[in-house]
Amino acid sequence: MGTPTTRPGLYHGTMDSQNARRMSNAMMAPMNPEYVFMGNMNAAREPQYYVRIFNVGDMEHKIERPWVAFNPAARAKIILIPACKPGEPYSKPFVIADVVQQPKRHVTTGEMDTVGVDGKFLAQDALNPEDPNGNWRTVRPMEASRAMNEGTNLYRWGCFWTVNETPSDEEVRAACSQRDSYYNHLIEEAKLFWMAGDEGRKQIGNTHRRAASFFGLEFEWNQIYRATKECPECGTRLPINASICSKCPMTFNWAQALERGVRTKAQAIEAGVWKGQAEEFSAEAEPSAPKSRRAAKKAD
Ligand SMILES: [Zn+2]
Repeated sequence: MGTPTTRPGLYHGTMDSQNARRMSNAMMAPMNPEYVFMGNMNAAREPQYYVRIFNVGDMEHKIERPWVAFNPAARAKIILIPACKPGEPYSKPFVIADVVQQPKRHVTTGEMDTVGVDGKFLAQDALNPEDPNGNWRTVRPMEASRAMNEGTNLYRWGCFWTVNETPSDEEVRAACSQRDSYYNHLIEEAKLFWMAGDEGRKQIGNTHRRAASFFGLEFEWNQIYRATKECPECGTRLPINASICSKCPMTFNWAQALERGVRTKAQAIEAGVWKGQAEEFSAEAEPSAPKSRRAAKKAD
């Protein structure tokens, strides 16, 4: 052993007594439960923060990159950006550490080494490789003349990266506006294709229809077939997944109706569907449960 170096939590006396060192290390062990010596400290350190890619668009994106951990389901090293589910402000994030170790071959010696790459750079590279130092603020406004040359610019689809754990209102707003202007562009383009006759119409694809459907717009080239059901009480035609009737008190799905606030707890209790839970709830929440139960009975 050469000159002793100081490592916190380990005994480094020069007059080594084997026992003293063992005891000291045993004492410190619980405080350093996963102490493993690594040559490369970047590989061992805990990230200081994370870079997250979010999506406000309705399309899932998969981007292949060599530095991503292997995804067994997709059988590839992919960045998987989930679609934003209807009714939610943004998707679940794809998370990247602040620094990602990447293998690098030394130019002259051919030896392999690793370098730490900024997670923000990797996120930006995934979303728009043509603007390597950018972010959502630097995305240029959509121009019809260059729209076809945008390559893989996922900002267009409503993706963005942030170091915030929850994206700010400003970030979400900017992403929504990118998505909307791109979808509007696609709709306008499809309209032109449609007017161009048979040859043009062949160029209308799923992305055009997706854009139209996103806004609930119906065109000759985007027919929307909506499944409906009839209210057994009043005969109103309703969307297949409606939780309540819009014309009468008929309720198809109480749990959903309550969650969405279109029916009240009192209505659920009155309809006799929530009595058990209502009692449970009030028994847990307030000691005056018997009183409120009596009141509910009285109301019947
Ligand atoms: Zn009805």
